[in-house]
Amino acid sequence: MDMTRFPTGVLCERARSWAALAPDGELSELERHLLDSHLVRCAACSRFSVEVAAIALELRHADLQPLPHLVSVPMWRRRQRFARIRTVGAAAAVALMALGIASRGPIAPTEHKPLKLPQITDFSDNVQGEDAQFRSLRHAGILDASRSPRHLPI
Ligand SMILES: [Zn+2]
Repeated sequence: MDMTRFPTGVLCERARSWAALAPDGELSELERHLLDSHLVRCAACSRFSVEVAAIALELRHADLQPLPHLVSVPMWRRRQRFARIRTVGAAAAVALMALGIASRGPIAPTEHKPLKLPQITDFSDNVQGEDAQFRSLRHAGILDASRSPRHLPI
């Protein structure tokens, strides 16, 4: 299978990776649906999918072949020495940070910068006056009595 004859777009590469997983049933329902919709639109990926499925099927039905020599698979084990170094390193970092914070001491009053709060305009100066005006308008029958003055359309 010559991989250079397939398109290199992102969608095509994703589709080919899903096509390689599909024969083993490793796709989710969404991935399967997206793959199928891409294969309808892309002849190159569709051809790739058929070839991959045929190769997978052929491999499944092929007779097992004995290896010419034994193969050993190294077992990865966490080494205790490295785990201990990491633990000691983390403890040392925490100790240095605590030492740095402790050596800093309290903030002197000269370092204290006054906190500047953002200016907010207060439009609530005459709320009581406005409420009195709305009450008088309501009382005169000009405004709907069921509506609050704060719910009036602007
Ligand atoms: Zn494609």
